[in-house]
Amino acid sequence: MTSARDSLAAWLRDAHAMEGQAETLLSAQIERLQNYPEALPRLRSHLEETKAQRQALERCLEKLGENTSTLKDGTMKMAANLQGWMHALSGDEVLKNTLASAAFEQFEAASYRMLVCAAKIAGEPEIARTCEHIMEQEVSMADWVWSELEPLTEKYLQREMAGMEAKR
Ligand code: MG
Ligand code: FE
Repeated sequence: MTSARDSLAAWLRDAHAMEGQAETLLSAQIERLQNYPEALPRLRSHLEETKAQRQALERCLEKLGENTSTLKDGTMKMAANLQGWMHALSGDEVLKNTLASAAFEQFEAASYRMLVCAAKIAGEPEIARTCEHIMEQEVSMADWVWSELEPLTEKYLQREMAGMEAKR
């Protein structure tokens, strides 16, 4: 039999790996962006949030008595790097990255919604509060990416039509 606490611990580990992927994706986007500097402040602030989220998840795992030295984030980071390189090969890299971010931030928000529920059932209200706080950050980022899709596409097409570099 698996307890809610065991599932909670496993999902916190998954979330930690997911945030490792988020950190890699955001860092690469910030580094490669050239012609869309207006997006940088929000990307940078979410990168800082992401680092703090990983630390908060580690504290949640420690609270459950879990060994945090065995966290394995390598595979997810590799997947993020691979995706970054795939998008770099496309002529509209900035848009491909934004599409991926739109999906990724929603995925993160959904993961924390699940974690909040699991933490409550496992009798861990403090972990539930932490996950709820992170969920709000992800929802806010997801909303921002959603709202950026239109102006970004407009700017991309305008640059392209004017013969300016639009790719990134
Ligand atoms: Mg995150
Ligand atoms: Fe995020």
